[in-house]
Amino acid sequence: MEAVSDNGRSGLGGMGTGRSAVTATVAFDGFRFLAGGATVLIEGTRIVDVLPAAAGSPDGWEVLSAAAILPGLIDTHVHLVGSGEPDALRVDIDRTAEQRAEVIERSLAQQLAAGVTTVRDLGDTDWAVGERGARPGEPTVLSSGPPITIPGGHCAAMGGTAAGTDQLRAAVAERAERGADIVKIMVSGGAMTAGSNLLALQYSEDDVRLVVDEAHRRGLAVTAHAHSLESVRLCLRAGVDAIEHCSCLTETGVVDPPDLGGALARSEVLVTPTFGRLPELAPSPQAEALSRATGFSLADRFTQVGGFHRAGVRLSAGSDAGIHPAKPHGVLPLSVLELVGCGLPVADALATATGAAAEGIGLAGHGVLRRGARADLLLLDGDPATDPAALLRPDTIILAGTPITAPVSGGSPTPS
Ligand SMILES: [Zn+2]
Repeated sequence: MEAVSDNGRSGLGGMGTGRSAVTATVAFDGFRFLAGGATVLIEGTRIVDVLPAAAGSPDGWEVLSAAAILPGLIDTHVHLVGSGEPDALRVDIDRTAEQRAEVIERSLAQQLAAGVTTVRDLGDTDWAVGERGARPGEPTVLSSGPPITIPGGHCAAMGGTAAGTDQLRAAVAERAERGADIVKIMVSGGAMTAGSNLLALQYSEDDVRLVVDEAHRRGLAVTAHAHSLESVRLCLRAGVDAIEHCSCLTETGVVDPPDLGGALARSEVLVTPTFGRLPELAPSPQAEALSRATGFSLADRFTQVGGFHRAGVRLSAGSDAGIHPAKPHGVLPLSVLELVGCGLPVADALATATGAAAEGIGLAGHGVLRRGARADLLLLDGDPATDPAALLRPDTIILAGTPITAPVSGGSPTPS
């Protein structure tokens, strides 16, 4: 299900003609900065042209200007049922369906306030996100439904357990029937489930290959949660389309074997390191325990991911938003800044949250300033090329042609 929230309004607040022009001297098109900025012409919910800023705006079009313009951001890894409290995914299990629906609505509002106009949910409970449907004024939502995991395994309480050939086949069939946009499988253990071992494999290579074959036969891609080096290598052999976390952990911390970046690059697998956290907050107790047990450090991961980029690995900035206090919804811009810290040029880091993210999740017509694309735009009051932190200061967010004024701090965005 692609829950596109085209809201039927007539563009830029419906001021008169429904034809509007957004102009900025700095413009990023989803992959690169456009020399001389751009004027983006919008009719209804779509971009109808992208002109040099110097070309000016056609007569009779409403004009909005900003310091910088870029596509609305795409977070390829969120958990909308998590509201950023400690142990959020466990807390969610005890909610009523009504309470869970409120959390999902609030999570989407927080994402939008940060300039995120598309999210991909990689783990809900009881299909709460997958079967919710599109709502006007909200980001576009793609979703996996509950992740496939072993009984008692990582995130098993979300309702997606399957073991053995018959159950795995049935699990993929169920996802296709319910309209999931992607199949998510937990190949290694995870930090946020008590008793789960990150370094342990949950499935065999044959199991993962079966899931990949069944999903591909039904036109669905597969993304794998994989923390350990062993699980990452298994995923590559089994032919998954994407790897979440990809921490390459061993008992002695994060490793980056010389052949791995090249192997990930050649496979064209989309790697989402799930960076992005509020720097002022302590890491989760689970992350601290992991550091004590294995010597894991974020600094090692930044070095590793910088190396992945140099090796040509496809990266997405997806943040794992919602799972604990340091990862609230809307944390994606901080993930982009951390990727800059890994050594990615600013344009490449921005692409991991716009054009390359859309391409990586197979979402055509999103994440780009291009004729025919959906008019999801982020307007900034500074130049992200020279000041990447400008990304933390959205000026105006345009969702399917309709401007949303960013709140001064926190809270929900309001249509302007
Ligand atoms: Zn996750």
